[in-house]
Formats: sequence, C-alpha cells, structure tokens
Amino acid sequence: MKRILITGAAGFLGSHLCDRFVNEGFHVIGMDNLITGDLKNIEHLFKLEQFEFYNHDVTKFVHVPGELDYILHFASPASPIDYLKIPIQTLKVGALGTHNLLGLAKEKGARVLIASTSEIYGDPLVHPQTEEYYGNVNTIGPRGVYDEAKRFQESITMAYHRFHGVETRIVRIFNTYGPRMRLNDGRVIPAFMGQALRGEDLTVFGDGSQTRSFCYVDDEIEGIYRLLMSDYSDPVNIGNPHEITIKDFAEEIINLTGTDQKVIYKDLPQDDPMQRQPDISKAKEILGWEPKVGRAEGMKRTFEYFKTLSKEELERTEHRDFSDINKK
Ligand code: UDP
Repeated sequence: MKRILITGAAGFLGSHLCDRFVNEGFHVIGMDNLITGDLKNIEHLFKLEQFEFYNHDVTKFVHVPGELDYILHFASPASPIDYLKIPIQTLKVGALGTHNLLGLAKEKGARVLIASTSEIYGDPLVHPQTEEYYGNVNTIGPRGVYDEAKRFQESITMAYHRFHGVETRIVRIFNTYGPRMRLNDGRVIPAFMGQALRGEDLTVFGDGSQTRSFCYVDDEIEGIYRLLMSDYSDPVNIGNPHEITIKDFAEEIINLTGTDQKVIYKDLPQDDPMQRQPDISKAKEILGWEPKVGRAEGMKRTFEYFKTLSKEELERTEHRDFSDINKK
C-alpha cells in the first residue's frame, strides 16, 4: 500500500484530497493544526484503518514514522480574511512549513506536491494568466503575506528539485469552491450563500466589475491527482477558465437561491485583483485535464451543502466584512 502525507488535511481541499487518496487505496496520513481546518471534514475517515491523523503544526519539525511515497502540502490559511487575521502563521506555513516538508521528502525519498496559487500572479497585467507570467504583487500590502509566502514556496521547491534532486510538483490553484468550504471564511461564495440563507443582502465589494473564474472542487482534485502522477516539475495552473464579474455572479446566486435579496455595494479591499482567469493550455496538453463541472451545476451542489448546515451554525457565522478589516 502506497503511503501519502497530506498537510492541511482538515481543510477544504485537504479533506477532499484525503477522500480521493483513500478511494485510490492509499494509506493516508492527514496532518493539521486546526487553525482554520475543521475535524468535521474528515471525521468519516477516522474509522478506517488506512487513515491516520496527526494534530501538528508543520512550521515545527515534522516527524512521520515509516516510509512515505508522496507528500501533499496543503496546509495554509487560504482566504483573505484568514491571512489578514493570522499573517505571521500564513508566512510561516508557506515558508518554514514548506522547508520542513521538502526536508522530509528528501529524507524519505518521497515525491512532494506543493499547493501554490493564482495569488502569485498578484493583480495580473497579463490576461489570461499563463504559467510564464511573473506576476504583479505588492509585497507589503495586506495580501503580501500570502502571496510572497507562496512565491517563496515555489522558489524553495525548485531549489530542492534542482539542488537535491527531490521529485517536486507545483500546482497553481485558482478560485475553487464546493462542499466543506467554511461558511465564514470570507470568500465570496460562502459569503453570498450565507447571506442568501440568512435573508441578508449580498455584499459586492467595489463596483463588482472585478472578475474571477471558479472551479468546482471535484475538477480541481482530479487536476491535482493527475499532476502528482505526472513527471512534470514546473508549475501548472489548475482552474476553470470560465470567467464572470462579481456583480453578475451575485445575480446568479440570487437566481439560484430563489431569494429576493438585493445587491449592496461596499468598499473594494486593498489590492483586490481586478481580473483572474487561468490559461490551462499546459494542463490540457500535459495532463489531458480540463474542468467538467459547469458553474450552474457546481453552484447547485454547493448550495445543497450549505443548506444542510444548521440554523445555529448559520447564525454563529454571521458574515465578516473583510473590507472593514482592511481599513484598520
Ligand atoms: N467579494 C465580494 N463580496 C464578499 C466577498 C468577496 O464582492 O462578500 C469579492 C472580493 O472583493 C473579490 C472576489 O469577490 O473581488 C473574490 O473574493 P474571494 O475572497 O472569494 O477570493 P480572492 O479575492 O482571493 O480571489
């Protein structure tokens, strides 16, 4: 049985990856310090012998007994509201955490896949974003702690690959959504869905002309799986190129949820990227991958998930206004 370590295992993507690798017949070792993750996302796996869980902070030395074939490093706060709240941990997990996991990969002879992000392109001046684009990042802005940690993460990963011969993979993840997103993580999809379910107006930041391209989680996981199994060590964009303005997206959510909420406008957070769309030519060519789940279907499935959350949970997680945090 192949053995895989997945960091950030209790998070949104981490937990879906645990499911995928359990289903593929791997022995899965999940690791998380539960700063932003939630054990609820993986509690169904605890009864399985092929799954084990370590409550550990990967910025501290990482020890895993026995052999390891693969490592997936998905531990990191990943929403603007989180990395504004815990900026130092965000920097540390991308930098020190990645260093520890690369060291572990070298020691164990494991192949390691690092979760990078479209944020390394910053507020992009090239559209759509190809992997060759170097990005436009404000190092000292509120998003800098995440963007620069992830840029450093890519550099140290390539250094371990070139200098130590470690087998490395780098996925640049674009906006991804689906069940198990945290209702109060501040991201636009849980924010809008939570607002619709609580009967509140939908808060669009700025004039809503900024764009994003949303990828359904099953597609994202398939892309990551194929990249890990490939022999390609340069970064690969995995995301859905279907782009929409945030204003039109708010209208779509209102139609989907069948509510009569209005759209209200708030300040645009500092350094909020104006446009984002992945160029996925590389993923198509190298991995034979492209997304299959359209936004209408994906949003329907995601809304079904949010509807299962209890009323108390909805009330406990009232919308946190991230445009205000930016001003403090
Ligand atoms: N956004 C919004 N209202 C919200 C939350 C987010 O209009 O309640 C906007 C946000 O300003 C950004 C887009 O939605 O332009 C996507 O935000 P998210 O935090 O989901 O991801 P990211 O900015 O990292 O792509």
